[in-house]
Amino acid sequence: MATLIDNTKEKPRHPEKESRPDSPVLRKPDWIRVKAPTSPGYAATRAIVREKKLHTVCEEAACPNIGECWQKSHATFMIMGDTCTRACAFCNVKTGLPGPLDDGEPAHVAEAVVEMSLQHVVITSVDRDDLADGGAAHFARTISAIRAASPKTTIEILTPDFLRKDGAAEVVIDALPDVFNHNLETVPRLYLSIRPGARYYNSLRLLERVKERDPRIFTKSGLMVGLGESRQEVMQVMDDLRAAGVDFLTIGQYLQPTRKHAPIDRFVPPDEFRSLEAIARAKGFLMVSAGPLTRSSYHADEDFARLRAARSAASGPL
Ligand code: SF4
Repeated sequence: MATLIDNTKEKPRHPEKESRPDSPVLRKPDWIRVKAPTSPGYAATRAIVREKKLHTVCEEAACPNIGECWQKSHATFMIMGDTCTRACAFCNVKTGLPGPLDDGEPAHVAEAVVEMSLQHVVITSVDRDDLADGGAAHFARTISAIRAASPKTTIEILTPDFLRKDGAAEVVIDALPDVFNHNLETVPRLYLSIRPGARYYNSLRLLERVKERDPRIFTKSGLMVGLGESRQEVMQVMDDLRAAGVDFLTIGQYLQPTRKHAPIDRFVPPDEFRSLEAIARAKGFLMVSAGPLTRSSYHADEDFARLRAARSAASGPL
């Protein structure tokens, strides 16, 4: 008897989460609502992304800001495929064993930067624990390709943690991005449940190493709130980041992608974000962006201009 295999059934995006119990998805408060993306600018950005066969974290992470950002040609490119080797409880990116690297990808990203006339570009990636260097050389090649094609474009990278990949971070730092971003995502107590494949002090140390090796590079990190962290714990993370010399902090509301992801503990109201922003500024960050819809790449172009101005102001007249 022949066995029929149903090839039409799509593989689950998050196989490791399939056996988890469902958590009810909370109704979003009014301050989180966003409009459906319909503008011509959004369609133009989407066309370039499709034509160059690129991935974006905007789509893969189901980012609520996609309508606003893509309308302004601001997309965050996600390199090294659409499949991640980690299984973070907050993240909507597909999990599994990724395919080989696409050697043509750095050039395609650079072409998209030129076609979209980007003054500032944000490049992120999936985690590639399967590669000996964690994808560091591919990051460096992408930075070089953008520099060659569009020398005036400033480059911000949002990297994985390069855990147990000796020398990888240095390869990326030496490619000289303008901003090196690595998100701590949450407070250390929640790492085991929210970011189980990562280590808090490894992530912190990565940011510190960037500053030690090349202080010209701005460093940036982001936190999600609403996962069950306390205010005290958030303030401790701010202190840790300042001790590591981090320039720019972003804080945004965690949103649960599916019933299988970590549940939302609470929706943090806008005035609490304003208060966290004031505290972070008082702790000495050059820039802070905090709000329910803040994401590490949200308004990254305008924020980079402010960051540069803040550094100039802090260093005083020449
Ligand atoms: S905030 Fe970042 S990830 Fe979200 S749509 Fe904008 S650029 Fe993309």
